[in-house]
Amino acid sequence: MRYKHILAAVDVTEEADQVLAMARQVADEHQSQLSVVTVVKPLTHVYGGLDMVSYTQVSVNFEEEAKAQAQVQVEAMAGKVGVPAENVHVSIGSPVTRIVDDADRLGADLIVVGSHGKHGLGLLLGSTANGVLHRAHCDVLTIRIKN
Ligand code: AMP
Repeated sequence: MRYKHILAAVDVTEEADQVLAMARQVADEHQSQLSVVTVVKPLTHVYGGLDMVSYTQVSVNFEEEAKAQAQVQVEAMAGKVGVPAENVHVSIGSPVTRIVDDADRLGADLIVVGSHGKHGLGLLLGSTANGVLHRAHCDVLTIRIKN
């Protein structure tokens, strides 16, 4: 069996390089298309309790700015493993939901995510890798992140 379209999910941290390197390797082995997805969390995720007048406009501006910055950074990281800008997808939302939706929309048959191997309470509270693993409609490859 060979994967035709691999989707690497990366946040804007150094660990993205490890996820992208492995996604590139698997994509080369399978001669698959490689796309990259990054999700910017809405402010309400970060400061869930905020209740401010005109908060909405502030948050929309902030999120659009964060999205534009993420787009530039992720395009640079993806470019290093040969993924062109048009195959980089940056959106605002819940990471797990967006990653799974983008995989469906793009017809990806493998999602690659990083994992810190959380267990106990960390796993109960849920990690991105865990959420994707449970919600995805295709195969998921988790890369153990080395610090
Ligand atoms: P975490 O569960 O937040 O420690 O992240 C584990 C892995 O999930 C990361 O290495 C990425 O592969 C993926 N991931 C986490 N957050 C995001 C995000 N905002 N957008 C895309 N992928 C993400």
